[in-house]
Amino acid sequence: MHIKKHLSFSGLRKMLSERFLQIEDYRASGKVKYSQHDFFMTGFAMMYLQDPSLLSFQTRLQTAFNLNNLKTMFHMDSIPKDTQLRDVLDQAPTDGLKAIFSDYLNQLQRGRHLESFQFLNGSYLVPLDGSEYFSSKNISCPGCLKKEKPVGDIRYHHQILQAVIVHPDIKQVLPLAPEPIRNKDGYTKQDCEINAGKRIISRIREDHPKLKIIITGDGLYSKQPFIDEVKKAGMSYILVAKPTDHKFLFEWVDELNSLGDVQRLEVKNPKGKTHTYEWINQVPLNGRSGDVNFFRFRILDKGKITYQNSWVTDIHIDKGNIRDLVKGGRARWKIENETFNTLKNQGYHIEHNYGHGTNNLSFIFFMLNLLAFYTHQILELTDLLYQRCRQDFSSRKEFFNQIRCTFRFMVFESWEVMLEKIIGPP
Ligand SMILES: [Zn+2]
Repeated sequence: MHIKKHLSFSGLRKMLSERFLQIEDYRASGKVKYSQHDFFMTGFAMMYLQDPSLLSFQTRLQTAFNLNNLKTMFHMDSIPKDTQLRDVLDQAPTDGLKAIFSDYLNQLQRGRHLESFQFLNGSYLVPLDGSEYFSSKNISCPGCLKKEKPVGDIRYHHQILQAVIVHPDIKQVLPLAPEPIRNKDGYTKQDCEINAGKRIISRIREDHPKLKIIITGDGLYSKQPFIDEVKKAGMSYILVAKPTDHKFLFEWVDELNSLGDVQRLEVKNPKGKTHTYEWINQVPLNGRSGDVNFFRFRILDKGKITYQNSWVTDIHIDKGNIRDLVKGGRARWKIENETFNTLKNQGYHIEHNYGHGTNNLSFIFFMLNLLAFYTHQILELTDLLYQRCRQDFSSRKEFFNQIRCTFRFMVFESWEVMLEKIIGPP
């Protein structure tokens, strides 16, 4: 039995600071009043404390008391002015922020927390899903995706493709660095989710050369070119395959089913529902390319189908792993529920327009918000003090109300001391 190492906010904050200090500063030296570190840390602190309005956040922080809390907890020397903050972040490169996602994961691995996420044969389930965090008729930048409606209406969007490490039985999720779906200068063709998918696969492999990974995704991804990329990166896959997208494959399955070659497992659960698993190895995905292994799953409740889905995978299917494969395929909802829904509706205000800029600003705010979410996820997983404090409040909202309130009222020598105060006797 290995002892898991506790990861504290102070330790994670230190990692953030180190990366923020390394981010290249494009401004002419000598003229700068605020450090690059403080610009990034202001953005992070705002997201971390779940205070969505930058201007009022800053006004609140200008008091001496709060500045001290920013000094003690976030190691900031000064609070940069609002407009300057946006200008500097807009021009800053994004690689430094992306690297923090790897830093966090490496820490979780070293602290022996990552291993509880192992799913099949020591592999990690990594669902991919796209999401939109900005949409406007009026505000745009060169990186915006542009959608033109037939009536001449133009809408501008920012989307990202997110990869997240999940485990079907663990509530918390571990986001990897997001991949922007964005237009590049000089390209007339709009970027799209599947291209971002290919980019993110090779980047994940570069960042984590040894990690055993099973990529999962919806029907968009169960196409040969994407599968080839996944295999090239030395990863496995479980991808939704719908009959409407894969006529050829389903004709084969039907034919083999009529010959009795499709394996079947039926389980009645205690609530009287029937779970039906069916699978067959080595069937052609289409007429032109290699074989895939196919499985489908159905829940029958009082004669009615309440759930059904089908997938393709490169993992050899048998009676021993079919239930896990279905669990793995279905765990994809965790990226929608536990990630995007939380970011949109649980205090992170990911769709709030923090500032758009002309270069990287909106993506940088998105990443700082995602890093705040990731930091909270790690504390939920590994930090007893945080867990105890969170348990004292019925909702996440109440918890953060208390944190913001305490943060404003008094000066603490650290984040941990503040939490102690919150759960301590009045
Ligand atoms: Zn834009």
